[in-house]
Amino acid sequence: MRPATVSDLLKSQGKLTPQVLLLEEGNSWYAVVVVDVSSLDAQPITATVQEVALDYSNRYSAEKTEEYNDMLLKYMKMDPSCLPRPLNEPPTWTVSLSGSSAGNLFCDVTSPDVVARLERGKCWFCYGTREICAGCTRGVAQEFDLFMSCGTDLACPNCMGIDIALEDKTFQQRLLGYARPNVTAHEIRERTKHLNARLAELGYPPMRWRDAEADEMDAEAQRTQS
Ligand SMILES: [Zn+2]
Ligand SMILES: [Zn+2]
Repeated sequence: MRPATVSDLLKSQGKLTPQVLLLEEGNSWYAVVVVDVSSLDAQPITATVQEVALDYSNRYSAEKTEEYNDMLLKYMKMDPSCLPRPLNEPPTWTVSLSGSSAGNLFCDVTSPDVVARLERGKCWFCYGTREICAGCTRGVAQEFDLFMSCGTDLACPNCMGIDIALEDKTFQQRLLGYARPNVTAHEIRERTKHLNARLAELGYPPMRWRDAEADEMDAEAQRTQS
């Protein structure tokens, strides 16, 4: 997700975006939709947003996650029978879209953003460790096309995202290959940086991933040199 601008909220002919947006207010996050945008001549330009009900049941496969992402993008166009019962007297907020107070409304929300912000980082798959052993998931990894042998510390597809998990699978395949070492200490640390950038985006603290192994490889190289 990213900070929403006026052009994200207004589609062609002044139509309001059907997306679910995330609003950060104080220390809390809310799922909202935009119900009005002020005149574009106003200073600052404001949007009126209203809280909506979201389904928080677990997305147990790549397919379910994609359906969920699709629902987030098309919320106001969805058949109401596919959505949770609307909130009774939902709270509304007026949000500034320009000037110094802008920036607490986010668009292009995906399932990992919902996990991080609205489900408070609670993940049914990795239990909040942000990594899974792709060989020990009792068949769940297969639902995300991520099944591998034991010994992986794969980025969790549910809370970090399917794309980054699939990308990490390629790294793991090289790491676990027969001809060792297949990856350099530098590559291990680059992966750590890449995954930690994603964690930071989602508001999670950084992790060491396989940096201990990189340290070990460096120490070993030192020993053979001397
Ligand atoms: Zn997870
Ligand atoms: Zn395992």
